[in-house]
Amino acid sequence: MESAGEEAVMADIGFIGLGNMGGPMARNLVKAGHRVIGFDVAPAALEAAAAAGAEPAGSAAEAATGVETVITMLPAGAHVRQVYLADGRVLAAARAGTLLIDCSTIEVATAREVHEAAAAAGHEMLDAPVSGGVAGAAAATLTFMAGGSQAAFGRATPLFQAMGRTIVHAGGPGNGQAAKVCNNMILGISMIAVAEAFTLGEKLGLDAKTFFDISSRASGSCWAMLNHLPVPGIVEGSAADRGFRPGFAAAMMVKDLTLSQEAAGRAGAATPLGAAATALYAEFVEGGHGELDYAAVIKLIQGRSNPT
Ligand code: NAD
Repeated sequence: MESAGEEAVMADIGFIGLGNMGGPMARNLVKAGHRVIGFDVAPAALEAAAAAGAEPAGSAAEAATGVETVITMLPAGAHVRQVYLADGRVLAAARAGTLLIDCSTIEVATAREVHEAAAAAGHEMLDAPVSGGVAGAAAATLTFMAGGSQAAFGRATPLFQAMGRTIVHAGGPGNGQAAKVCNNMILGISMIAVAEAFTLGEKLGLDAKTFFDISSRASGSCWAMLNHLPVPGIVEGSAADRGFRPGFAAAMMVKDLTLSQEAAGRAGAATPLGAAATALYAEFVEGGHGELDYAAVIKLIQGRSNPT
């Protein structure tokens, strides 16, 4: 009985983009018993995936040929277009009815454009960006935010379960990307609010721990404060306790905030604080701090303040 159940969910999966996130995600699919045919333009990434049990393919099109599902985990929208629509030829190579899942974080508009092309080619598609970072990818505890049809979401759910823990259907095409950029815009803005409040509090003579004990139980409390406090020695596991080693790198925050601003511009939504947060993180990253955790933006705020 048990092995029949396991066989029923096993699939042949083409996995394209085997980097920091895609590598461990593909490994977790192999561990769950799936056959994974992997491709990456970087030979080292392909070799690492092969060592973890994936079958290496010679091109994106080859990885997409004859499989039930194709998963992509690529750096940005340009790579997604290239792989699906241009010389990667995934849409053309996949057999009709293949489930295509793009887990990359990209523009909402690009996601919707690729969805349309996929539907025209006879495929089902989901945009399914993730949160949880490299640690979540390794531990199979990612959060998936998926956009696309209910039927596609149903087909993809067992695969998401092999790679993640929290799986949410955010609505139609592009809505996974929409949820991701809107959520990360809140995170980026609220981290700056926390950094400003703790910097001001210090200048006004407040002890940081005392202020945390008050604000974390009062109306100023928020997820960034409770989990990623940018002041050391108060919240266990926060990046401030390890010299702001990420975590979630400031350069990644700039990427996500820039996507939020691109989406806001197209949709005609006013996001004045989103714009200000994008500019502040961009300044921080341009100052050479892109590899630090995003909570380190408190250094920018402190640097702009008068010395005590
Ligand atoms: P990465 O650069 O480590 O991996 C991307 C991989 O794609 C690389 O190995 C690269 O060689 C490969 N690639 C590029 N073009 C290709 C092509 N045409 N065909 C095949 N392979 C190609 O990036 P990552 O950290 O794994 O991030 C992937 C995506 O996940 C990004 O969109 C990122 O924003 C998102 N994301 C990352 C994190 C994180 O913490 N790293 C967290 C959440 C979301």
